Amino acid sequence: MSATQDKQLADIKLSEVLIPAEKVAHVQLNNPLEHALLVLMKSGYTAVPVLDSAYKFAGIIGKTAILNEVLGIESFEMDRLSEIRVMDAMASDVPTLTRENNLLDGLNASIDHPFVCLVDADGYFDGILTRRAILKQMKKDIYMNVYKK
Ligand code: AMP
Repeated sequence: MSATQDKQLADIKLSEVLIPAEKVAHVQLNNPLEHALLVLMKSGYTAVPVLDSAYKFAGIIGKTAILNEVLGIESFEMDRLSEIRVMDAMASDVPTLTRENNLLDGLNASIDHPFVCLVDADGYFDGILTRRAILKQMKKDIYMNVYKK
């Protein structure tokens, strides 16, 4: 990436490219894993944000983590899906950003994560930044540079 491209990406605030909270599928800390797996299967997403009852961001839960929880020695113990809560299987050690961060910050955070959650100053969930949104913006930027020449 050229210095010019770095600069252009640094000029774009995440507020311009985020998927807002009201359009993001999520689950809550106290939900059973059965509910989380249903949300994931029906939405087709690999993982979704976990929020507390006040809509503050708490972590991320994905299909692999859920299936690992119920993986027995030779079979899946699916009955356990209703006994285990999301808070006991989610990943809470994940990066977050704010809508004031720029696309370059988003790009760095997205290297290891297909989506990154955005929070406000009080920790309330604000939306997500997806790799797809970053790639679309970078494609636009690259095309503009090619056709400018
Ligand atoms: P994408 O880059 O659009 O393929 O999205 C990557 C990942 O972000 C998906 O697999 C989901 O885990 C998450 N994601 C994208 N859009 C949403 C949404 N509206 N609600 C919840 N999770 C989402």
